[in-house]
Amino acid sequence: MTKLETLGACREVGRSAFRLSNSEGDQVILDYGVSMKENNKDNFPGDVEPRKINAVICSHAHVDHSGALPYLYISSRPNCYMTATTRMLVKYLLDDMLNISGPTLPFEEIELRNLMKTVQVVNEFGKSVKIPGATGCSFTFHDAGHIPGSIMTVITMGGKNILYTGDLNTIDTRLQWAAKTNRFPLLDAVITESTYSQVTHPPRQETEQRFVTAVKDVLDRGGQVLIPAFGVARSQEILAVLQTIGSFHNKKIIIDGMARDISEDLLKHSDTLRTVYSMNRVTMVKTKKTREDRLKALETGDIIIAPSGMLKGGTARYYVENMIDDPDNAVFLVSYQVKGTPGQVLLDEHRYETEMDDDRGSSFNRGKNDTAKQKVEIKVKAQVERFDFSSHCDGPELLKFLKGLKFNPDTHDPKIYCVHGDPDSCDFLAKAIGEQIKGVAPVVPKFGEEFTI
Ligand SMILES: [Zn+2]
Ligand SMILES: [Zn+2]
Repeated sequence: MTKLETLGACREVGRSAFRLSNSEGDQVILDYGVSMKENNKDNFPGDVEPRKINAVICSHAHVDHSGALPYLYISSRPNCYMTATTRMLVKYLLDDMLNISGPTLPFEEIELRNLMKTVQVVNEFGKSVKIPGATGCSFTFHDAGHIPGSIMTVITMGGKNILYTGDLNTIDTRLQWAAKTNRFPLLDAVITESTYSQVTHPPRQETEQRFVTAVKDVLDRGGQVLIPAFGVARSQEILAVLQTIGSFHNKKIIIDGMARDISEDLLKHSDTLRTVYSMNRVTMVKTKKTREDRLKALETGDIIIAPSGMLKGGTARYYVENMIDDPDNAVFLVSYQVKGTPGQVLLDEHRYETEMDDDRGSSFNRGKNDTAKQKVEIKVKAQVERFDFSSHCDGPELLKFLKGLKFNPDTHDPKIYCVHGDPDSCDFLAKAIGEQIKGVAPVVPKFGEEFTI
């Protein structure tokens, strides 16, 4: 008998974590991430006993899939499997998480080091890997097309094949090839993401073309472009688009923050990239550089890529505050904008608020305990637009992918578990599966539920 237990990512995007177990008591953990919600409650996945785990599989480096992994390495050393690229990115992202939220986390740097030492790199797709010490348990990785290093995995346990998609993209993007979806065995169950089940993305090439034309228009009129983007994948995707489709060779492109080091390290894993971008002629501002360096970047840069994608913290705020009162400039948002974030307010309401005080200037770089904040609205005169560079399947693509899967004819009523989406997106996907895919049953699980596969 094979059991699935949901430890997170149920009717939410965040803290992806699932446990598979068999009658012999073998256990496999699929992802162990954190939630990025503001409050500190429910930010971690359901508890497990690390010494009972035979294997941990990490689908990709985003912290909603990897952020709680070190917690499993406090008292034990379960085998942890991921690609080499994911390993490199996990180190960056969890180091950064420890720097920012260290005291609030239930683990420290030593546990991250223990995790890193325990990681077993698997780079080959489609090759079965046996899990030591677990009876008849193995897994295979398949390219998920989501970000560099991302995988889907098929776990074989108790004679059943379970596909876990992690985060998934089935179309080519500039940086990544589409997910490889044609090498799965007959399946008994699927755990699928549901993030954008209700969305239809515009055709990618159109978005790229529209974006490059818009950047060119701004530069032609003597303005500067700020592109707020997360340091992993999106920054490099934008760089690759600018270098491949645009002709901005004589323009000064600046990358601020963690993206700099990641961009250079990703090039060491260039076999996982569809487009190998170039770091020549790209100017960097290091994470810990001072305000003067940013001022220089602001004075000389034509195109500035800086975190965070939704203008919620990160150095992009410094640039936006100094750029948006000029109508020649532009802020091009390239990430999804969650409701209530400064990016969404800027885009939809054309408003930008910052916190100022007399001696320190804007809220940028201010310590958490500083008081005397005063909200100041900065007039938005710059062009503000959003371009959909999503790294997830949209609804139609997700359904096409699920329709293409082949299920084991001997399994009665195989299930597709819809996770990793807000409640409406999970329900929407489940309804569509119910209506359009014969012979399978959709399930929208709740946190902490148990199912027999
Ligand atoms: Zn992701
Ligand atoms: Zn995710």
